[in-house]
Amino acid sequence: MENKLDGNAAGGILQEIFPFEMTLVQASCTGCGVTNTIGALAVYMHAMGTVIRCPACNSVLIRVVHAKGRYLLDMRGVSVLQINAEA
Ligand SMILES: [Zn+2]
Repeated sequence: MENKLDGNAAGGILQEIFPFEMTLVQASCTGCGVTNTIGALAVYMHAMGTVIRCPACNSVLIRVVHAKGRYLLDMRGVSVLQINAEA
């Protein structure tokens, strides 16, 4: 059971963790090398958490679980995260 959302939905939960405008942060896919802004990625809400996928190759870029008072952030699918420090 997956509920597909647009990348702006991921901005919400990532904003709880990072002090940046996360929809504008660029993530490079480890699988295919494509770089997209987080706001342009495919987001799926599961009972277990939020899964952010590469729109080009469908690899999982980021998984976020918020449970028991902590965030679990799995970012092994991201090779580079580009954050604009002047935003
Ligand atoms: Zn990819």
